[in-house]
Amino acid sequence: MTGWHEEGLYPDVRTRYKIDRVLYESNTEHQKMRLLEHPRLGKILTLDDVTQTTEKDEFIYHEMMTHVPMLAHGAVRRVLIIGGGDGGILEEVLKHPGVEKATMVEIDAGVVEFSKRYLSEICKGAFEDARTDLVIADGFVFVDECAEKYDVIIVDSTDPEGPGEILFTNEFYRRSKQRLTPGGVLVTQNGVPFMQAGELRSSASHLRQYFGDVSCYLATIPTYVGGAMAMGWATDNAGLRKVSVGTLTARFTPLHLNSRYYTPDVHKAAFALPPYVSELLI
Ligand code: SAM
Repeated sequence: MTGWHEEGLYPDVRTRYKIDRVLYESNTEHQKMRLLEHPRLGKILTLDDVTQTTEKDEFIYHEMMTHVPMLAHGAVRRVLIIGGGDGGILEEVLKHPGVEKATMVEIDAGVVEFSKRYLSEICKGAFEDARTDLVIADGFVFVDECAEKYDVIIVDSTDPEGPGEILFTNEFYRRSKQRLTPGGVLVTQNGVPFMQAGELRSSASHLRQYFGDVSCYLATIPTYVGGAMAMGWATDNAGLRKVSVGTLTARFTPLHLNSRYYTPDVHKAAFALPPYVSELLI
């Protein structure tokens, strides 16, 4: 089938992508998964007809969701990824040599198997790395039942619909706080504030009950339509948001990440919020 794919995230805004080929289509236990080929964006992964990641702009989201908390913290040994089925976050986390263990809790084994096979440009060898601990489970249950603690938790979930909905609840954030080491940081995929203001407002309201410092930072991912995307930020260590560009640079440079979006200056600037966003955090 060629023609057009219509993005289904919003009831009143529909974006369409010209499709050269449908590379794969299947229903997993949890969601409808499609891999489309686009002339400009390359491969597009959709779940339940919502764009998850594309070959050409995935670097922006995966670099910013990962290196901002990792470099702000500066001494990350254990990371927990909730969701992240395409492996993009995991791949970026493993670029940090100080990481001893990266636990990734993904509800849908089908997304992982699919991504290994069809999206190796994104996950590369991350799933085969000796430090990777892949758990197929509901992240909501995992953070309740697991006894381990992590320096950074990255919630790379779908939007608050279907299996992802529970990852935006007060109880999930309460449980996640218990999984953080002292001074650790939680970051969340928190939507596009111009389009999903209520999502960010709700997450911030929940997170403030459990964390001393709650904010967000911004990055613009072309295929997440509606403007800059918010990445939720929650920690008891308010200093993490104030780490200097000099310190970030000292931590960033030796890693030779060859990043195409993240730099220490971009990191710092990402926390400069326009009023239409900062007012959602109050
Ligand atoms: N980067 C994408 C974005 O910004 O929307 C999301 C990437 S990833 C594909 C989202 C993953 O979250 C999916 O693989 C989905 O299966 C997973 N997921 C959704 N709900 C989950 C849950 N309750 N527990 C664990 N994983 C979940």
